[in-house]
Amino acid sequence: MTRLIFLGPPGAGKGTQAHLLQETRKIPHISTGEILRSHVAHNTPLGEKARVYMDQGELVPNELILNMVSERLKQPDTDNGWILDGFPRNVSQAAFMDDLIQNMHWDYDWVVNLDVPDEVLIARLLHRGEVEHRSDDHDETTIGHRLQVYRDQTEPLIDYYRQRKQLYTLNGNQPMEQVAAQLNEFLNSHHLHKS
Ligand code: AMP
Repeated sequence: MTRLIFLGPPGAGKGTQAHLLQETRKIPHISTGEILRSHVAHNTPLGEKARVYMDQGELVPNELILNMVSERLKQPDTDNGWILDGFPRNVSQAAFMDDLIQNMHWDYDWVVNLDVPDEVLIARLLHRGEVEHRSDDHDETTIGHRLQVYRDQTEPLIDYYRQRKQLYTLNGNQPMEQVAAQLNEFLNSHHLHKS
């Protein structure tokens, strides 16, 4: 059983690492950004509402996100655990997650925090915007705003989880294989629970 939350700024490599772990641990990688992008691509009512926030690099309002996450986490493929990438993103989402975890009698292992300097993040995001045609990653102004939103709203979660001694910070400014190897080694030697 592995349940993990990935924390870190946009471009830190959360998606890449979560994807690798999904393969090795056979648990779903749940990215709220990806779920939202799929809603936008399919023009669902949620997608229509979320699009404007996403294009501006703002967080989508909690009332559009919370139900989406709890429904996803209750799907049968999460029986052996999950990797959350991009949620929680602010303190009220973290409080919601605490309640959900308690109500579902879940335990979770670690909050993994990927640390990467800003100049590396900006270069990576510009590259990703070109390769993936992501509308929120194509110009420096929106990228700068996404990083600011991260500093203001998401970064406080580092202390939130550090105080509970559930935070594992690792240097994300290394080749992805090296990050993955360090993460695997850590998880293999630091399981919090046995269920
Ligand atoms: P990401 O792929 O995680 O970088 O997310 C892309 C965009 O989706 C973000 O800039 C937000 O607009 C939106 N988003 C993703 N996850 C969340 C969340 N947990 N809360 C609010 N907005 C989110």
